[in-house]
Amino acid sequence: MASIKMENVQKAFGKTIAVDHLNLEINEGEFFTFLGPSGCGKTTTLRMIAGFYYPTKGIVRFSDKDMTRVPPEKRNTGMVFQNYALFPHMTVFENVAFGLRVRKIPSSELKTRVLDALQKVRLESYPNRQVSQLSGGQQQRVALARALVIEPEILLLDEPLSNLDAKLRDEMRGEILRLQRDYKITTIYVTHDQAEALSMSDRIAVFNYGVCHQVGTPAEIYNQPANDFVAGFIGESNLLPVQVKSVQQENVVVTLKNVDHPITIDVPNHAGEGEPILRTDKDLAVSIRPEAIRILDVAEEGVNSFKGKIDSVQFFGSVVTITVAVQNVFLRVDVLNTHEFRHFYQGKEVHVQLPQKRLRLIPIISGD
Ligand code: ATP
Repeated sequence: MASIKMENVQKAFGKTIAVDHLNLEINEGEFFTFLGPSGCGKTTTLRMIAGFYYPTKGIVRFSDKDMTRVPPEKRNTGMVFQNYALFPHMTVFENVAFGLRVRKIPSSELKTRVLDALQKVRLESYPNRQVSQLSGGQQQRVALARALVIEPEILLLDEPLSNLDAKLRDEMRGEILRLQRDYKITTIYVTHDQAEALSMSDRIAVFNYGVCHQVGTPAEIYNQPANDFVAGFIGESNLLPVQVKSVQQENVVVTLKNVDHPITIDVPNHAGEGEPILRTDKDLAVSIRPEAIRILDVAEEGVNSFKGKIDSVQFFGSVVTITVAVQNVFLRVDVLNTHEFRHFYQGKEVHVQLPQKRLRLIPIISGD
């Protein structure tokens, strides 16, 4: 097992800066995910760790050892590609054995290790099958066995499930996590699927346009997004543009922009809790998740309670999404499908309450 450190890493392709100012520390044995939209620099970062690309600037370390310009075959990393990159004319056994043959492992040990790896991915009955005769899910397992059989220090997975249908994807998520736990291997997982990232990872790095915007546990990323990009990309979020009225030690009072009658919201002041000092000269928004908002029949004493009208009610099975208009601001509220939701209908006058603890005051960076 190895830890990974990226120190001020940049990768440029001509004038395109694919990755910039990247500082990351990935711990030994961690399941770490690079999450972001297409073209944000996830694969480029993974390839710099694998050694397929060398950084334009900066340092890549494995357990403190400088690996920046070490070629891929000397890195002891196993990689699974999006399209699997298997040899279609070879058998399952030969595909998995490939890396061991390159490393000149004696044939009896090679056989034991290949069969052991095939057993781990539950393909022990298929060693002699041609890869081209396997289903997508089975090919995925061969790719995993091929990466794991060399006993790498680091496992790199580049959108490994994107070619599978939803049900198989679900099943393979579980398989990958099981293998990661069995091998206790430092793993980096690249995906643009936020549900996958939230449900699988120990920690996540969120990328956009070559910049890493936040690193944290799934709960930190979801509950304490660093900016409007993270809040909008992971889960659903209400983002309310605001301006600051006053800043106190514990809280910040803001007013909503774009409303006819002033609305004041009281939000916690997170500055100092590992967060940068609030820049009141920046464009700011209050973010709140849809399930955090309460809908009430009558106004409740206390802060952040506003009068509104139900604009729409959408049924999604386990969750019901209610849109409430507060003046011309539309708030998305998710409630569980319990009998109470029948109580809410289009046109009904209600009150919404935004619990102070669930509010985040964040910079708006989109459009920067
Ligand atoms: P996807 O999810 O679509 O694979 P990604 O987040 O992995 O996207 P990268 O493949 O890392 O993104 O690409 C980041 C940026 O670098 C993009 O603008 C891409 O066009 C550019 N890029 C990547 N590889 C190369 C290359 N070999 N030559 C030139 N530009 C490249």
